[in-house]
Amino acid sequence: MSVLIVTEQRGGQWHKMSWEAVAAGQQIAKLLEIEAFAAVVGSGVESLGGEVAKYKLTEVILCNHELLADYTPDGFSLALRQAIEHLKPEIVIFPHTYQVRDFAPKLAASFGKPFLSDVVGVTREDAALIFVRQLFQGKLNADVSVEGEAPFFVSVQSGAFRGDSAESASAPAAVRGIDVTLEASQIRTRPQKPFRESKGEVDLSSAPIIVSVGRGIKEAENIAMAEELARLLGGEIAASRPICDNGWLPLERQIGSSGQTVSPKLYLALGISGAIQHVVGMKGSRTVVAVNKDESAPIFEIADYGIVGDLFDVVPALVEALKESSGD
Ligand code: FAD
Repeated sequence: MSVLIVTEQRGGQWHKMSWEAVAAGQQIAKLLEIEAFAAVVGSGVESLGGEVAKYKLTEVILCNHELLADYTPDGFSLALRQAIEHLKPEIVIFPHTYQVRDFAPKLAASFGKPFLSDVVGVTREDAALIFVRQLFQGKLNADVSVEGEAPFFVSVQSGAFRGDSAESASAPAAVRGIDVTLEASQIRTRPQKPFRESKGEVDLSSAPIIVSVGRGIKEAENIAMAEELARLLGGEIAASRPICDNGWLPLERQIGSSGQTVSPKLYLALGISGAIQHVVGMKGSRTVVAVNKDESAPIFEIADYGIVGDLFDVVPALVEALKESSGD
């Protein structure tokens, strides 16, 4: 019995969610007391396999073929199908990336299985695994179990498992290539240049302090107050999605599942409710301070310090106190 963790790389560059999938796969392997394997798909991926082998895994499987040099849904699903037939894992774990969304349903369907996407947690009940998926924009959590014959196909939501919690091995895992049989005629699409997001001017992922504003800020002009607080703290300003959707701050300052993932020493959440899509982007912060006038706002569940109050009272008071202490 085993778990197969599918990693993702493009042109030799790792997708950082690969390590989140490794962490999730290791957790499942522990829960079920079974072995964890990882797969690397591509062309000439031997050295990448060696990088994965530093994690606590039974073995790293290489699906190596020149026709896998560029991503195609046909090529990747056919290659992984062969790896799955070879290894016969109970569960196949993917990071929930755009690429996985593209080919994993096809791969699962080729086995006649459903694809359990965007999982945020997993527990064990007797012999069964219970996966947690979110519904209605994170307002409800659903416990989902799978029935029938393995393999089961599961992807994990960005930020739900911490990549840096993936366990390293005391000695590197074995790396083994499998024979992948692929014909050019089986690949029906011709890859074009990969889509690149425009490079943002700010890299919030390395900011030690972030002051983040949500819909509680009410008007675009009120953001100046939070920006001043960020400046006095030596931090960066960021926001929840509605603020960026409104164009009040640039998209590159959005935190969350469709924005940046950050882990500053201090994350100050002002008027942010704490929807899961926001929380997955900031829950790795060392200390979270939340200001919200609703004492039952979900953000307080992950806050280290919570102020139940009106941000229009709290922020000016903080600005005043910081100015006084710095003589600004
Ligand atoms: P609200 O949920 O409206 O919360 C505002 C909060 O401010 C409330 O809790 C309220 O009590 C408080 N408040 C109001 N006035 C005051 C005051 N004067 N003082 C103090 N508190 C006050 N969201 C993201 O943030 N990032 C993402 O990347 C993201 N991606 C998404 C992807 C998808 C596919 C989907 C479906 C949604 C995504 N969302 C994302 C949206 C997310 O679900 C929430 O809608 C959003 O995070 C809510 O933003 P908010 O907390 O600012 O607003």
